[in-house]
Amino acid sequence: MIRFTLDQRREKAAIRPPGYFEDVLALATVQGEVLTLDQEAYEKLTAKYRGSGATPPPEEPTAAELAANFSSALARWSAAGFPVVSREIYTARAAVCACCEFWDAAARFGLGKCRHKKCGCTKMKRWLATESCPLGKWRD
Ligand code: SF4
Repeated sequence: MIRFTLDQRREKAAIRPPGYFEDVLALATVQGEVLTLDQEAYEKLTAKYRGSGATPPPEEPTAAELAANFSSALARWSAAGFPVVSREIYTARAAVCACCEFWDAAARFGLGKCRHKKCGCTKMKRWLATESCPLGKWRD
């Protein structure tokens, strides 16, 4: 299940073609200010609207770049002694990613994927104390 607030989807609707917000409401379960989409509905919306708004789709890392990014992250984490963050920090990082145009929550069987060229990581990256968002949206 993927959850958003109504305000988050309204913000997204501002850069999407007409009909986006209505499609979200038609596919989601709404409870108060929270929208819940199942995986299938989320993928349907993503397929229909990705790249259709004013913002061009992000350029994703190539396989070689992804491998290099992953190796660098592992090297940093290993050199620091494998430190992880607290659940509070993890949750705060996750909240930032959830609102980010680069985050694809449905990718990799629910592990998600940051589509930024300098990242490409899943949500597991947020546990690593040595990692940060490539755009500086979160650090610790
Ligand atoms: S790591 Fe940064 S760029 Fe990637 S999805 Fe999260 S907030 Fe966005």
